[in-house]
Amino acid sequence: MPSKVTLLTRTKALANCAQDWHQWHPTFALGEKVCTVCGAKAYCPLCVSKPPGTNAKLITCALHRRERKEVEG
Ligand SMILES: [Zn+2]
Ligand SMILES: [Zn+2]
Repeated sequence: MPSKVTLLTRTKALANCAQDWHQWHPTFALGEKVCTVCGAKAYCPLCVSKPPGTNAKLITCALHRRERKEVEG
């Protein structure tokens, strides 16, 4: 049954969210991401000066992650 598969997929996805493995999706705002599964918000501290919400998580965006990796060598 398709509905059962969808429920299972969502249950698995939520289990991932509980372990901080969110399905981050970029938003219209630079440096801000939203989890398509649980709706949690995240932001890159190097792109955004202030968090979009009190529960927002810190996630360095791909651009800044690469820069930091180069610096760290
Ligand atoms: Zn999530
Ligand atoms: Zn960034």
